[in-house]
Amino acid sequence: MNRKLYFLILLIFTALSLKAQETQFTHADTLRGSITPERAWWDVMRYDISVTPDFDKKYTSGFNNITYKVVAANHPDVMQIDLQQPLVIDSIIYDKKQSLSFSREGDVYFVKTEPQNIESEHEVKIYFSGKPHEAIRAPWDGGWTFTKDKKGRPWMTVTCQGLGASIWYPNKDHQSDEPDRGASLTMRVPKELMAVANGRMLAKTEHKDGTISYKWGVENPISNYTIIPYIGHYKNFSEVYTGIKGDLDLDYWVLDYNLEKAKDYMPPEVHNLLDAFEYWFGPYPFYEDGYKLVETEHTGMEHQSNVSYGNWYAGGYRGRDGSETGLGLTWDFIIIHESGHEWFGNNITTNDLADMYIHESFTNYSETLFLDYVYGEEAANDYNYGIRSGIQNDKPVIPAYGVNAQGSGDMYPKGGNMLHTIRHSMDDDKLFKNILTGLNMTFHNKTVDGSEIQEYISDKAGYDYSKVFEQYLTTTKIPKLQLYIDAPNSKMFYKYTNIVDGFNLPLVLKGSEEKIKIIPSAEWQSVDIQHKNQYLFTPWRIEHMYYVDVELLKSKD
Ligand SMILES: [Zn+2]
Repeated sequence: MNRKLYFLILLIFTALSLKAQETQFTHADTLRGSITPERAWWDVMRYDISVTPDFDKKYTSGFNNITYKVVAANHPDVMQIDLQQPLVIDSIIYDKKQSLSFSREGDVYFVKTEPQNIESEHEVKIYFSGKPHEAIRAPWDGGWTFTKDKKGRPWMTVTCQGLGASIWYPNKDHQSDEPDRGASLTMRVPKELMAVANGRMLAKTEHKDGTISYKWGVENPISNYTIIPYIGHYKNFSEVYTGIKGDLDLDYWVLDYNLEKAKDYMPPEVHNLLDAFEYWFGPYPFYEDGYKLVETEHTGMEHQSNVSYGNWYAGGYRGRDGSETGLGLTWDFIIIHESGHEWFGNNITTNDLADMYIHESFTNYSETLFLDYVYGEEAANDYNYGIRSGIQNDKPVIPAYGVNAQGSGDMYPKGGNMLHTIRHSMDDDKLFKNILTGLNMTFHNKTVDGSEIQEYISDKAGYDYSKVFEQYLTTTKIPKLQLYIDAPNSKMFYKYTNIVDGFNLPLVLKGSEEKIKIIPSAEWQSVDIQHKNQYLFTPWRIEHMYYVDVELLKSKD
């Protein structure tokens, strides 16, 4: 085929497929996933949520009292509040006295307000009720779970990452706006049930009708999707962990019949994780609110200071090892992974769901770093190499911005492998650890764009990694390192193929004593080698430290 014609057809196909991708997003996606004018003028300061779930009727009612600050001088006289159907908003009270009118477009409510002064603080108390959406396959599909424990008694919780907290209570459902002064959750339940939520228990109120209200709360900013109720026949035990910021309260809430098993099993796992992660990432981010594991029927989720746990009190991921090395079976995947999110996800939260790779790449890599801390670098490299088999490379890790789109599942193992690659290219674990700790200090309790994290890493490393991020996050191409040995002249030739323009990943190749650093590009370069360091170019050695494919060529032409 004529080359020009070929490229013209290719161009048309590309344009059509891009168009098709674009049109998958609706106006509702934009309302959900972007900072609309009706969201931009107010900043959430606090959520005080109250809910009464009726287990038999699978019905909930309650309110969210939103305290907010006005952050724009001239603002629309409309406020966007999200609540997903079939739940409905019943009424809204402004500053404790005035009833506000509202209209609905799908899962979005436009609430009519009056002009408010910039910097002033106000409250809207939003009453809601209805039969909420139920999770079909928690935690992957969100909503309420009304299930029964092994003894046939009620057991309830919610999962809503990605889907959004508006699946169960009204709020400003955008990841970029966390309540700056924390949140509380009050659950009113029959007296035989216990209700647990984030942070610490603040109050317990007994009512004449035989119900009890449990109020829990956090002081720290919190992502709305990690505010979660757990209701069931829970019993708890507590201990104090001496961490790098002092005493940290650890609390374990498990079903009553699992209490003795949990007492033996959970604390050692949690101590190991805190030892390892405080070493790599700095102090646990929420000492004020304590750390808590709460048993659930689903596998687990990173609810802030309130981590859900359903991994059956055994190693691996319900008995499976994603790395297929056996290394993954020696520790509890859910305790380690979901708690890793306290640093990456809960402490550092991304503004847009499209940057979710910041949460999952670092937390995936926290597994490798955990192994590194406990077993050493070789085991860590094996594990990281092992999880590579889970990478699909079917689509880029970063999806569209502004429409609440979630990227490819590759954000887990591929993201972890990208960080592993960057770490080895630095060849300075002290620096790498300082970067991880520095990220958690610099962006403590902040919401960020992925680009800010990328720039921080390049800045502190003193090397521009932007092309490396571009390669692994925005394409499905795996860099190929081509090698050619010119034995008579003791030279190793090397170059990259299958890369984005300007891809500049340095490779530090290390052995027991020998070390060679090269910065391959798309052009052939060479380095002098000797008999004793030639082994550094063995493909498996390189591939265990770097997510690249190594190819040995017989000639370089
Ligand atoms: Zn995760």
